Amino acid sequence: MLIVGLTGGIGSGKTAASDMFKSLGANIVDADIVAREVVEPGNPAFISIIEHFGNSILQDDKYLDRAQLRQIIFAKPAEKQWLEDLLHPIIRQEIKKQLNNSNSLYTILVSPLLFETDQSNMVNRTLLIDVPSDIQLERASKRDDNSRQQIQKIIDSQLPRDVKLKKANDVICNDKDLAELEKKVKEQHAFYLRLAHEQHS
Ligand code: ATP
Repeated sequence: MLIVGLTGGIGSGKTAASDMFKSLGANIVDADIVAREVVEPGNPAFISIIEHFGNSILQDDKYLDRAQLRQIIFAKPAEKQWLEDLLHPIIRQEIKKQLNNSNSLYTILVSPLLFETDQSNMVNRTLLIDVPSDIQLERASKRDDNSRQQIQKIIDSQLPRDVKLKKANDVICNDKDLAELEKKVKEQHAFYLRLAHEQHS
C-alpha cells in the first residue's frame, strides 16, 4: 500500500491540506493525535508516566497535565530523554497499526516531525507543505493568538525550511489562498492515485 508522509512547519497548512486529501478519499493517520491517544488514562504509557513522575502530574480530571510535563522536560533533558524513550516506540507501533488498518488507495501519515524522527522510514514518499516564513508567521500567530516572537521561537526550533525542501519527494507551496491549495492537493491526489495503481499492477 502506498503511504505518503505529509509534513511542514508550524502553521504551514498541514491540517488544511490533509483535510482536503481526506475529502478526496485518502485515509489520514495523524501522528499528533496518536501521541495524545497513547497517554490517555489507563493506557500503558499513561501508567508508566504516573509511576515515574507521581500523581502530581495529573490534572483534577485525572488526565495528564501536559503543560506541566512540557515544563519538566524542558528544564530537565534527562527526563525528556526518559519520556521519548518511553513514548517513541509506542507511538510508532500505534501509527503502524493504524496504517495497516487503512483501506484507502493510498494513506497519508501527517507528522510535523516526519524528517526529525524515524517516522520517515514508515512511508513510501514524503510531501512537504511549504510556505515562506513571513506567511507562516502571519498565519500561525493569527490562528493561535500567540505573539510573533513565540511563533518565531518555534519556527527556529524546527528543521530549517531549506533542509526540508531538500529532503521532500514532493512539495506543495501554500503561499496563495485556500482555493489554490485545493487545486494543488487535487493534482497531487491524482499523482498518488497513479502511483498506487502502478504499485498494484
Ligand atoms: P500546526 O503545525 O501548527 O498544527 P498546520 O501546519 O496544521 O499547523 P494549519 O492549521 O492547516 O497549519 O494552517 C494554519 C492556519 O493558516 C489555519 O488557520 C489555516 O486555516 C490557515 N491557512 C492554511 N492555508 C491557508 C491558505 N492557503 N490561505 C489562507 N489561510 C490558510
